[in-house]
Amino acid sequence: MAKVAKYLRLLGFDTVYRGDLDDNEILGYCRFGRIGVTCDRRLQERMPNSIIVLRCEDAVTQLRRLAAMLDLARFAHPFTRSLCCNRILASCEKEQIFEKIPKETYRWLDGYWICPKCDRVYWQGTHAKRMRKKVYEILGY
Ligand SMILES: [Zn+2]
Repeated sequence: MAKVAKYLRLLGFDTVYRGDLDDNEILGYCRFGRIGVTCDRRLQERMPNSIIVLRCEDAVTQLRRLAAMLDLARFAHPFTRSLCCNRILASCEKEQIFEKIPKETYRWLDGYWICPKCDRVYWQGTHAKRMRKKVYEILGY
């Protein structure tokens, strides 16, 4: 589910993910209105209205199924959230973060975003092209 969580954040959804969450912690998050996503049917039996069970298959296929179930295309805000820590990104001036980006990129690109928690910088470079392709594969736009 790590990749599913990463892609949900890529799509802009507020996503809790930790590899060490136990069943009771997951159900605890669901009690506060979150939707649980798992491959574990036993977990769904404990809270059927809040847990979605996905077949164990590749992450993009899982996300496409989830997108169809929850109409994710309608609510997505791709490229607005930190992939590592889930925070909403803030736009920033490139002069503020010049030491964090490759010199080549600095020269030709002006739009940058920074995560207020982990300080990671994001931009629409070549890596973002691959990510846009993932968004298209999942949401169809
Ligand atoms: Zn972050």
